[in-house]
Amino acid sequence: MERFPFTLPQLEPGWVWLTGAGPGDPGLLTIEAFNGICQADVLVHDALISEEVLSLAPSSCEIFYAGKRGGKPSPKQLDISARLIKFAHAGKKIVRLKGGDPFVFGRGSEEALALVEAGIPFRVIPGISAGIGGLSHVGIPLTHRETNSAVTFVTGHGASGDIPDGLDWAALAKGSPVLVIYMALKHIAEIRSRLLNAGRMPNEPVAIVSKATLRDERVLETTLENCVNDLTENKIDPPAIVVVGDVVYLRDGLDWVGALSGRILCVDPLKTRVSRNVG
Ligand code: SAH
Repeated sequence: MERFPFTLPQLEPGWVWLTGAGPGDPGLLTIEAFNGICQADVLVHDALISEEVLSLAPSSCEIFYAGKRGGKPSPKQLDISARLIKFAHAGKKIVRLKGGDPFVFGRGSEEALALVEAGIPFRVIPGISAGIGGLSHVGIPLTHRETNSAVTFVTGHGASGDIPDGLDWAALAKGSPVLVIYMALKHIAEIRSRLLNAGRMPNEPVAIVSKATLRDERVLETTLENCVNDLTENKIDPPAIVVVGDVVYLRDGLDWVGALSGRILCVDPLKTRVSRNVG
């Protein structure tokens, strides 16, 4: 890392660097993440880490898959932590690579706490979360002064596999002008009806963003009323983020990726829109 005019940390033997890999595009790794991957002699990664990112590891680096995706064998969280601890005790330099930011809906904090319990030294390297950077990439701002001054991040999938217990959907529907929902596809019908029952407008815009920042990124623009049908009709692959709120309208003006292939951007995308009147 001599090309940088600042000092980057050294990955020491016996340490674990819990590292965010960003939403997918290798160009969106942080310099610190890249620095860690280049020094790793063991790399333990999740399902959402691309081959291109893994190819940055030195050829001597041992690479282990610890992904948890529906339909595929899933290592238990305890096994993943035990494996990190075992490698640390063996004096390896370990990068634990997780999609997005390691502390956003990714159980990174549980892994870090297991390291604390085992007395293993660790560093946390933040990453760009899919619900932030992935949405910027497709031209959906999380905030915009004319639409919202708050945003809420929600998971659509709780520990039980159902939509999370203990979430007050009525309060979310009333209080949060923009909802960014991770892991929402499986329970989209339930989420839709909870939001509608709590008074969200059927014509409220919704975007479903699949594989954000990757080459096969897709965005389905729909409404709360139509999102379930539209999802069925358009094959949308996971991983996907669901955004509910007027910020979705801004994509008409901000879809810079679309503009690269000829989309004409609108200078005043909110002009003809009905706002939900929630600040
Ligand atoms: N720690 C991650 C989130 C892990 S939970 C982060 O900060 O981004 C996994 C969920 O993240 C997926 O089910 C999906 O909802 C979302 N996700 C991750 N990468 C994505 C991508 N490239 N495009 C769309 N959604 C993504």
